[in-house]
Parts: sequence; C-alpha cells; structure tokens
Amino acid sequence: MQNKPTVFTIILWVALAGLCVGIVLLAPGTVDAYNTLAREQKATPTPTALTASVLMVTVDPANTPTPTALILRIGVQGDEVTRLQQALKDLGYYTAEVDGQYGQGTALAVTLFQAQAGLTADGLAGSDTLAALYGGAAQTYIPTPTPSPTPSVLQKGAQGDSVKALQQRLKDLGYYQGSVDGDYGGGTEAAIRLFQQQNGLTVDGVSGTATMAAVYASDAPPVTITPTPDPAAMPMLVNRDNPVPDGYLPEDMVNLRNTLPASLVYVKGSEIQGVREAVDALAVMFAAAKSDGITGFQISAGYRSVAYQQELFNASVDKYLAEGRSRTSAISATRLTVADPGTSEHHIGLAFDLTVAGTTFKGTKQQIWLHQNCWDYGFIVRYQEGKEKLTGFVAEAWHIRYVGVQHATAMRDQDLCLEEYIQLLTP
Ligand SMILES: [Zn+2]
Repeated sequence: MQNKPTVFTIILWVALAGLCVGIVLLAPGTVDAYNTLAREQKATPTPTALTASVLMVTVDPANTPTPTALILRIGVQGDEVTRLQQALKDLGYYTAEVDGQYGQGTALAVTLFQAQAGLTADGLAGSDTLAALYGGAAQTYIPTPTPSPTPSVLQKGAQGDSVKALQQRLKDLGYYQGSVDGDYGGGTEAAIRLFQQQNGLTVDGVSGTATMAAVYASDAPPVTITPTPDPAAMPMLVNRDNPVPDGYLPEDMVNLRNTLPASLVYVKGSEIQGVREAVDALAVMFAAAKSDGITGFQISAGYRSVAYQQELFNASVDKYLAEGRSRTSAISATRLTVADPGTSEHHIGLAFDLTVAGTTFKGTKQQIWLHQNCWDYGFIVRYQEGKEKLTGFVAEAWHIRYVGVQHATAMRDQDLCLEEYIQLLTP
C-alpha cells in the first residue's frame, strides 16, 4: 500500500517534465511565426482585412497590433497554407504534397491560378487571390500546351533523337519492325505510310504536324495490317514497270480442267494452267459460292506464256489497225486492256479471268458474289475502278489474282490495290 503514492508521484513528475519539454520545443516555432507575420506587416503598407484569413496574434496586451490581412508567400507555414494548397490541388494547379509549407511549388501553383483567374500573377496569395480561390467560382486548371521539343516535320534523311522517339512509338504500335537507330530511312518512311494509310491521313511518308499528332495521340490505334519483315513473303508485283524476269516459268502448275471439278466451274480451255496453290483456292472458293447458291462460273484464262501474250497483243493491235487507226494509236488502245508481253500477271500463273456464258460478267450475280467474297479465299480483284492510275489498267471485273488470304483480306480492309499495298509494306 505504501508504494502506491510513490508510483503516482513519479508519474506526475514525468508528466510535468514532458510538459516543460513541450513548451521549450514549441517556443522557437511560435517566435518564427511571429517574426514572419511581422515581416509581412511591414511589407503590406495598406492592409485590407479579409475575415477568412486574418491571423490575430496578441503578443502583448499593452501593444495589440491592428488586425492585418495575411499574405501567404514563400516561407510561410501553417494551416492557412495547408488550406491554400488543398484548394489549389483540388482545382489541379498544385500537384505536390499538401504539407502546409509555402515553397516554390506552392508559389508556382498560385501564379498559375492567378494567371488563369486574370489576377496579377506574382505568386503571392493575398486577399484578392484568396477571395478568388475560395469564392466558389474558381476554375479548374487548364494547362497551356507546352511547345514540342521535336521539329514539326520529320522526313526521309532526318536523324536524331526525335527520329528515335518516332521509331520507338511506331514500333510500340506495331507499324515499324526495324531498328530504333534515329535514321529516318526507307523502313521508317514505309511505317509512316502504313500509319497514314490506316489512319485516314495523306499518305506521303512524311511526318508532318497532322501525322505527328496522330502518332503521339494517346488513343493512336495499333497496326491492323501486319507488315512482313520478309520481302519474299510479299505478293509478286507484275505490271508495266515490273515485268517478269526473262524466261520466267511458274513452278508447280497444274491443268485446271483436270483439277477443278466440273460441278463447280467450267474451264473453257483444255490447256489452261495455274499454280497449284491458287487452283486449290479456286476450288474452295467455287464450292463456297455453290453453297451460297451461286454457280455458272467459267474460267477463260489462267497462265499465259510471254509468247502467247505477244500473240494476244499483236492480234489486238491488228484489230485496231483494221479499224483505220495509226500504229501508235492502235498500240495505245491495246495497252489499255492487253498487257505488254512480259508485263501480264497471267505470266505468273496466279491470275485468272472469270466469265459467265452468254453475258458480260460485270453486273452478274456471279460477279457480285466474287467481288464480295474472293478475298476470304486469297484472291483480290486486281484492277478496280478508281485505281486505274496506280495499276495502269482500266477496271477489269473478271480478273482475279491469288495473293493468299492474309494479304487479300488486308488489301480489302484497307482498300489498297497491289501497288499501294506493296509500296506501303516494302522498305
Ligand atoms: Zn486477266
């Protein structure tokens, strides 16, 4: 029983000691706050009272300072600063920690708020600023766009970090397969073309303002055509500028009449040949057409040798000459529908002409079905309306070309002729 008062006494002494230490620790802060306030009073010749932020400090009952408006500024600490920071943070001007310390970050946030609110942007939170901030009509922060450090136009030949950044971005989106080396070469240009094509921009391979904005947009879509890094995997391009090599003969050709069931399609010539893979695809396609109720297709052309193309070409020229045209005119007219020997797609055994007996192919239900569905079986409608300048041919509704399902569906989805497609995907 005698120990109890002793223990109580010790606790009391410890508590008293703690209180004294607390008073000693608090004292410097109190002095600092007073000094800060004193400085601000001197800096404010004509103080305007603002009820919300008036800090009344009674230092000496005999010398009571007049109430003064507090100007919050760098160096000030306390609850008013906390309130200020929180308000600025809520509106988006301030992003750092709400710590009650008016530092450079708080001053910057105040400056941004003042500028947007039409106040003097001095970073000092005085009565006007605080009234505007707490008045209920304060606007949220609208960032001013910062100028891009990258040049507005990048194109082939450009080098440097901005090209690197562009390459990396294109790579992240799947448009670019090459190395991120800071050199705007053919591969980067092809990637930009692909991006432009897929995003409805002018396709020129130049990264101008519109292209840059689209590439760096947060919602920039990833690639939908998958570029192949292997040029050999691209469809072979044959046109006036790209003739087949001399003596070119396709491998693995089969006779169509012997290969395709007569129940699916009528092959008009007993000697018509084609590359096996393409002919197999024809069989699958015609079977699908039949299941859709579309029959009556004829195949009137497949593989042609260069010598045979020469015969066709000469025959057409002769026909126009017989009509009284000049030789130049006859050749020009022929070239609209008959390829120069060596430049016909029929030389590679992957192109076929489809017809319907007794009528023009265009407008038949067979033609309509073909143009809607051939892509899914690896065929493209090679010469289409609107692409004449690119293909060099007037539209041919009957001529299809086998390129494989992946390429065919990509060309359909992007509305690309073979020339466009190859240019887009080949560095
Ligand atoms: Zn043809």
